[in-house]
Amino acid sequence: MSIYISCMHYEAPDFIYRVLVPSIIPPTLYYMLVPGMLDLESLQVIRNSVREFSQELEPVAARIDRENTVPDDIIRKVAEMGYFALRVPEEYGGPGLSLLESVVVVEELARVSSAIAIMATVSGSMVTYPIIHYASEDLKREYLGRLADGKLGAFALTEPCCGSDAAAITTRAVLQGDEYAIDGEKVFITNAPYADFFIVAARTGKPEDRHRGISLFIVDKSPCIEISKLEMMGYRGSGTSLVRFNDCRVPKSNMIGEPNTGFKKLMMTLNEGRVTTSATGLGIMQAAMDDALEYAMQRESMGKPLIEHQMVQYMLAEMKVLLETSRLLVYTAATKIDEGSEDIPLYSSMAKLHTAKAGVDLVRMAMQILGGTGYSKDSRVERLYRDIKMIEIGDGTNEVQRMVIVKSLQGKIRIG
Ligand SMILES: Cc1cc2nc3c(=O)[nH]c(=O)nc-3n(C[C@H](O)[C@H](O)[C@H](O)COP(=O)(O)OP(=O)(O)OC[C@H]3O[C@@H](n4cnc5c(N)ncnc54)[C@H](O)[C@@H]3O)c2cc1C
Repeated sequence: MSIYISCMHYEAPDFIYRVLVPSIIPPTLYYMLVPGMLDLESLQVIRNSVREFSQELEPVAARIDRENTVPDDIIRKVAEMGYFALRVPEEYGGPGLSLLESVVVVEELARVSSAIAIMATVSGSMVTYPIIHYASEDLKREYLGRLADGKLGAFALTEPCCGSDAAAITTRAVLQGDEYAIDGEKVFITNAPYADFFIVAARTGKPEDRHRGISLFIVDKSPCIEISKLEMMGYRGSGTSLVRFNDCRVPKSNMIGEPNTGFKKLMMTLNEGRVTTSATGLGIMQAAMDDALEYAMQRESMGKPLIEHQMVQYMLAEMKVLLETSRLLVYTAATKIDEGSEDIPLYSSMAKLHTAKAGVDLVRMAMQILGGTGYSKDSRVERLYRDIKMIEIGDGTNEVQRMVIVKSLQGKIRIG
């Protein structure tokens, strides 16, 4: 409201773009119609503060990738900034960021370390979402409070048997008195070695019930959970692990929502997760773009800088368009979620699919521009090349996103 009251301070064109236009059209359209206005002031403040913090991460990013682990002091610093609790509302002690604001934070973290960025995404968005929207007040106070205190959460859905076919999961939760006994194996679980608790999808109905027989639980870290860290190609250090739940006992009250209603909650969570995962892709793309541009301006070939050669110019122009179209779509999808639009699944899947494809293309071209230097283990682009591929797989593959997009067009996906 204060922006409208203070409008007298603006010059005429500034007034039209900053005050009048956003007051008469929705934010999504505003971002699209007003060139150069994507970074509204508050987003820019957030971006600058994360960028400043990220300078501390820069010297350790390559080591995190090489050693496949994040040092404790870095985890502590990121937690102190509130980045593992991005979406936790202020009333539970968190920063209470909108999804669009969270996207900017994640994007800036990923410019430096995709591992830290995806850890923030999982804990601050995918773990947080089902608790905020579906958990009891007691669970909210306990677990949102822990996230706000700097603890991390993990989101355990995928199993060795099934990733794309999430309705086929086999981990079982059996009611015994006042407790559920949870038994089963999950794979590729981000954050697992660092997590204080897990959101676990488990079967409470019969296998043939498929998506109608799945419930969500919060399971505290405990000796019943066996964690084996995996050697992945990218996002190294984010703790991707095989996680075995050996007859883990959780109170009945740790179920999120009603029995057998977990699948829809998972899908709603993934809508948001796809946007924040895409934001990690934006950061990776920006870093590759920065490196390629710098190299093309410095490196000479056949008597002139690379950037003066038409074929290199072609690649740089293509890369910039891929980056900015991805950014627009991710910001639009985030705004759709912030506004509670009906189009959320359509836009989050479009943002994820486009960013994944554009990202893989962009980083490939960046490496091409850097030539042998880019292919060297000493170059950042080599790491970015491995990292970006994950966006085509995690949180639903490109093929799954295409399915969601078409089902949305057919009117077969309802939210709520
Ligand atoms: C780095 C990383 C981190 C991850 N973090 C997490 C996490 O924190 N929590 C979590 O639960 N999961 C996580 N995952 C798992 C991820 O979400 C799954 O890998 C993904 O959903 C794909 O499942 P899948 O690997 O079982 O592949 P599959 O489902 O076996 O698919 C294999 C291939 O077949 C295609 N395919 C499958 N079904 C169809 C179909 N019906 N039509 C057309 N094509 C099809 C797929 O698109 C893919 O190309 C992570 C994965 C990675 C790589």
